[in-house]
Amino acid sequence: MAEEHQQYRRIILMGPPGSGKGTQGAILSQKLGLHTYSAGELLREATQSGSREGLAIKKIIDKGNLVPAKYIVNRIKAKLMEPENLKGYILDGFPRTLQQAKVFERLQHKSFFKQNHLQVDLVLLLQVPDEYVLERILGRSSCATCGTLYHEKFKPTKVFGVCDVCGGKEFTKRADDTYETVVSRLRNYRSVTAPVIPYYEEKGLLVCVDGTGPIDVVSEKIRKIVGY
Ligand SMILES: [Zn+2]
Repeated sequence: MAEEHQQYRRIILMGPPGSGKGTQGAILSQKLGLHTYSAGELLREATQSGSREGLAIKKIIDKGNLVPAKYIVNRIKAKLMEPENLKGYILDGFPRTLQQAKVFERLQHKSFFKQNHLQVDLVLLLQVPDEYVLERILGRSSCATCGTLYHEKFKPTKVFGVCDVCGGKEFTKRADDTYETVVSRLRNYRSVTAPVIPYYEEKGLLVCVDGTGPIDVVSEKIRKIVGY
């Protein structure tokens, strides 16, 4: 287990969908002055770049196939080797599979990573029960006019049905925020991503955080662990 007084700057954020990874990643990014990278974002960037590898990735995605771990890890590698990331980085939702974790592990033994101390030093797991994920995702909506985000329980409008910011009265939900989609994403997380957890636990890198409760309470717990 990690010691509390230590500082961590090469961080993997893990947790089920709806655990608040994205939000906490953004807070950490800002506080530590580090970039947060997510695999999805990097793949999108690659396919839009028009590079040879990007085109190969696009072909795979267009066919509806899973992008092999080596492509994803290559994208991550290219980013982490940029000079501005030598002071650290945050990975959001990567590795998503055990195979990605193993390919990434091999990369960390390469001399560039060792010499620049780029090896992951902390894996933060945000733990939230399924019921909480469902409540959190199914309760969220945004103002159709200005896009302000709300949650019927955690962040309701001050006046029922009226946007605090613009006075709009129409609210929309994301198309994939349905019960069926969330349950299937949770199931997918459990079968595909959860096996990564014991992998990092064995390496002594894993620290679990209770991800329930208000954003600032969770980020305070993370602050103590990360050390800033
Ligand atoms: Zn609004």
